[in-house]
Amino acid sequence: MKDFESWVARNAARIGVREEDLRRAFAHEAEDAAPDDVLQVPDAWRATYRYSYGGVSRFFREIRDNGRLMGSHCETCGRVFCPPRRHCPHCYESTGWVELPGTGEIETFTTVHFGTSAHKRYPFVCAYVKLHGTDSVVCAILEMDDVSLARVGLKVEAAFRDERDGRITDFFIVQARLPGTSGAEGGEPGEGLKQALGSLDVERAMTPFSSIGVAQACLEASAAYALERSQFGKPIARFQLIQEKIAEMAMELDIARTY
Ligand SMILES: [Zn+2]
Repeated sequence: MKDFESWVARNAARIGVREEDLRRAFAHEAEDAAPDDVLQVPDAWRATYRYSYGGVSRFFREIRDNGRLMGSHCETCGRVFCPPRRHCPHCYESTGWVELPGTGEIETFTTVHFGTSAHKRYPFVCAYVKLHGTDSVVCAILEMDDVSLARVGLKVEAAFRDERDGRITDFFIVQARLPGTSGAEGGEPGEGLKQALGSLDVERAMTPFSSIGVAQACLEASAAYALERSQFGKPIARFQLIQEKIAEMAMELDIARTY
């Protein structure tokens, strides 16, 4: 095609897609093609439709209008489901509604680094959460600044977007916080120092032991390697510079042992 760039700009505007997408999808048209090669042209197809939530409509209506999570409850077996089911999959009985506290724990999760959906921020964590008071798991996006902190068993709570339209993404989860603290979880408010001091006795005895053990292993490995590795026709253990380094290691290790 003679003027590929103006073709991209004109067609992107015509069908309402991004120029970079057209440029990538039709890159081959920028090169010379044989007259008989198959020619493809871009076009767009839009569909506006109504999606029905049917019997679980109340779940979405409560999220949108009241910012609360509901589960469905089976009177026969006592199970509670979220996402809700209008019929119990175990008893086949109709279920009723029950309000959930909105807290729970992560059962499993995956960290998403790349996607084609409308999600704005990458990476994000997609988690299966067992909400307290339910017997099922619900898939939700865990919003957190440091996604490396996500883990199985993490305590979370439901949060709701300011503008809600009755969609599943109106609701997401965040790491649970204790009221009145900046800490994330574990123990009661004001008990943090006691918890930290409680492990100090053990830690201050254990940490030097493990450090000395690692240092001893390093010394042995270094000495063995200095005898094995040759340079200028002899093992590097014969050079004073290497001897001094190993002697320093042995000396500092001895000093560490006396404390
Ligand atoms: Zn049941």
